[in-house]
Amino acid sequence: MRERIFLSSPHMSDEGYEQEYVKEAFDTNWIAPLGENVNQFEIELANKVGIKSAAALSSGTAAIHLALKAAGVGEGDIVFCTTLTFSASANPIIYQNATPVFIDSDEKSWNMDPEALEEAFRKYPGVKAVIVVHLYGLSADMDRVMEVCNKHNVAVIEDAAESLGTYYKGKHTGTFGDYGIFSFNGNKIITTSGGGMLVSNNREKIAKTRFWATQSRDQARHYQHSELGYNYRMSNISAGIGRGQLKVLDKRVEKKKYIYDFYKSELGQLEGIKFMPENEWDNPNYWLSSIQLTGSVRPIDIFNALEFENIESRPVWKPMHMQPFFEKYDFIGEGVSEKLFENGVCLPSDTKMTDEELGKVVDIIKGGWGK
Ligand SMILES: *Cc1c(COP(=O)(O)O)cnc(C)c1O
Repeated sequence: MRERIFLSSPHMSDEGYEQEYVKEAFDTNWIAPLGENVNQFEIELANKVGIKSAAALSSGTAAIHLALKAAGVGEGDIVFCTTLTFSASANPIIYQNATPVFIDSDEKSWNMDPEALEEAFRKYPGVKAVIVVHLYGLSADMDRVMEVCNKHNVAVIEDAAESLGTYYKGKHTGTFGDYGIFSFNGNKIITTSGGGMLVSNNREKIAKTRFWATQSRDQARHYQHSELGYNYRMSNISAGIGRGQLKVLDKRVEKKKYIYDFYKSELGQLEGIKFMPENEWDNPNYWLSSIQLTGSVRPIDIFNALEFENIESRPVWKPMHMQPFFEKYDFIGEGVSEKLFENGVCLPSDTKMTDEELGKVVDIIKGGWGK
């Protein structure tokens, strides 16, 4: 059987940058916990995206959790969250004993619909925070989202887990709100094998989240704790991988765009296929090339045909308001996200794919149209 083609899998640099940084950590026995790689990774990532401060954490989920805590979200507070996303966007709301309200997507961006957001503020005026997601590397309409949020004096957390390297009007996603988070999980555009980053222009808040993330240890000789703590820091080994990966981020974005353009030029003319939106404000990282199928060929046909050839593809995220765990919470919108889910296919977008492999995927999909 041919080797599996993945949706998106780890891709270390050809130059071996990651191993150099990891080797440094080994040579100095600085395997864990913190160390030079962690400090430098924070600085390098902050510089890359153009923000003042960053905290390297054990996951993107941990970063969302600490962003909510830093924003003062606690028991009984309401948090608005994009519904069309991975559950990790919403789970930390529950960790803080707060209540999510899910906001529908906009056809134009596949991300949070500013109109639905406005409607949500009319229904729930006393909201504490808004989690806005940049899905598949497409940016939300941040001017509109920020305009609505600024009217309501609410903390904005950008879940940029999938969008490192994406620009909205020339500025990196993750740097518009009060907090931004990135993920370095294995399938993201760059990886540390697992990890995340919380970024903000508020240095004190980031310092505070580093404190919480290292068990809230007070400055004292003995172990003293005045606050609840977490074990959320990134290890010095992971950070070493991250420093190396950051050097090839632009290359990865370039390849992701190449993959998207390849699919679009080969499949764009087929009846009933619509590619993910391209907006004038957006320079996406094209993390996953995603399409909508509105004709007689259904997503399941594509999943099955590709899987038969050992090629991975998957549905668009199932909206949070449709999830058994979250369906009891309120949802504001018209169901655009439900349609995006029903008709959505994420095509294999692995940066290690060759032209031959891309051609193979294209041929299999065209087969569904009898071509
Ligand atoms: C991957 C992902 C996360 C979670 O990141 P982890 O590092 O896996 O915890 C959060 N939100 C979105 C939208 C993601 O895709």
